[in-house]
Amino acid sequence: MKILVCVKQSVSGELNPFDACAYEAALRIKTAEDEVILLSMAPKKSEEMLLSLTRLGAAKAYLLNDKAFAGADTLATAYTLSLAVNMIKPELIICGRQTIDGDTAQTGPSLSVVAGYNLITGVMGITDVNGKIVCNTRSGEVTKEYPALITVERFCTLRFPSIRSKIGEVITLGAKELGADVSRCGMNGSPTKVLKTFENQEGRRKCTFITPEQLDDAIIAAKEKGRARLAPKEQSDKKLSEVWIVGEKPRDMALSVAERVRVIEPDTPKKIAELIKAEAPEVVLWASDAYSKATAPQVASILRTGLCADCTALETDGESLFMYRPAFSGNIIAKIACVTRPQMATVRTVDTEGNDMIVAVGMGAVNSLDKVKGFAEKHGAELGASRAAVDAEIMPYEKQIGLTGKSVSPAVYVAVGISGAVHHVEGMKRSGTIIAINKDKDAPVFDYADYGIVADINDIL
Ligand SMILES: Cc1cc2nc3c(=O)[nH]c(=O)nc-3n(C[C@H](O)[C@H](O)[C@H](O)COP(=O)(O)OP(=O)(O)OC[C@H]3O[C@@H](n4cnc5c(N)ncnc54)[C@H](O)[C@@H]3O)c2cc1C
Repeated sequence: MKILVCVKQSVSGELNPFDACAYEAALRIKTAEDEVILLSMAPKKSEEMLLSLTRLGAAKAYLLNDKAFAGADTLATAYTLSLAVNMIKPELIICGRQTIDGDTAQTGPSLSVVAGYNLITGVMGITDVNGKIVCNTRSGEVTKEYPALITVERFCTLRFPSIRSKIGEVITLGAKELGADVSRCGMNGSPTKVLKTFENQEGRRKCTFITPEQLDDAIIAAKEKGRARLAPKEQSDKKLSEVWIVGEKPRDMALSVAERVRVIEPDTPKKIAELIKAEAPEVVLWASDAYSKATAPQVASILRTGLCADCTALETDGESLFMYRPAFSGNIIAKIACVTRPQMATVRTVDTEGNDMIVAVGMGAVNSLDKVKGFAEKHGAELGASRAAVDAEIMPYEKQIGLTGKSVSPAVYVAVGISGAVHHVEGMKRSGTIIAINKDKDAPVFDYADYGIVADINDIL
């Protein structure tokens, strides 16, 4: 079997962590008859990283590099990658769930449509590859026929090369070698355009410092206050006459830019694409749940239209839709427009499922884990974790909150021994009330908390 792994070097130079897991997953299922091949559409400088990755077991790597590929959004990226897929003809493609720079989680599902592969998203483990592929996913066991494309969560860690490992080759392919239609590549082929970017101040809160004795009362009050409403901030003077929403969740966001909303029931990508083709709405908005994140990019690929991921605000001049989304770990907000129709976006919605209180364990709580667990139990709270706590193997990855974990929005979020790195804040800033406990009064987490307790965990809880 040929297994193709799509990989990307992040802006900081490291292999995108989700792709590292995709590669390790491929190496684990590889038998002596199988061949693992790496594929990356990237600048020339990624050649070095690809070469060193071949030492782990991939026979070769393809680097898609051409001026015509620059500035691609997910639709143009999926098209370009699909040309290499058509050439290589793997039975199985493994992609990371998302890149940590772009953070859209769209490329895998889009590529599955353009290349004609069966799709499984949110994979937490591969249980069988004989005849069919069977995966454990966030929503249970899923089986698909080959050819199949799976997108993986971070469920395993990439191995190190051994001293005797052999280096493979990197084959660079440009638009000509791929036979690409350059009008569908790079900036030319990208329906979404970034209009401007600016610094993100979102998520910052005014912290009131309290004593450990006031903690229980603060929690009770926060539970009563409930979950945050992600009320869309920018209300436009002018409105679009009608916006379609898939499911009820994007209603609030839609009403910030539209006179009327029409609700479309969640269905298969094919059926929704047919309906959109037949009735040609101007705007279609999706939620940010697992169904929408997997389905919206497939519909966008079928319709060859743009899809902006994870919008936190919308605006309109009465004709076009302007979409705001965090980029690069949430440090920057980008204003995006879509030049094709329909204009589509997944919008961040408050998830009303799950426990209404989360107690998140950070590195500072490593030595007081039992205490923190007891505290969570007393308040009927679910546990969460920072990536450092997961990497230290004191908490499982499913509990990781943040950019490379999950996003949560309980009524009460208690961060225990967490420093407050932007990567972590990205996953918890939509909580109703945030309470931080840290022994360092200058810890950044207090900038994102409503209440703070400066104390050693060992002395309180
Ligand atoms: C690309 C990328 C993606 C990432 N994705 C994520 C992600 O999804 N989620 C995530 O969480 N991180 C993520 N990170 C990592 C992130 O940058 C931080 O390194 C991580 O969040 C730190 O975890 P922490 O706060 O638990 O640990 P630390 O930063 O080590 O902080 C520990 C804190 O505990 C406090 N403390 C120590 N002892 C005590 C005590 N006894 N009592 C009270 N306080 C104490 C310290 O003052 C400190 O503030 C990512 C990083 C990168 C580069």
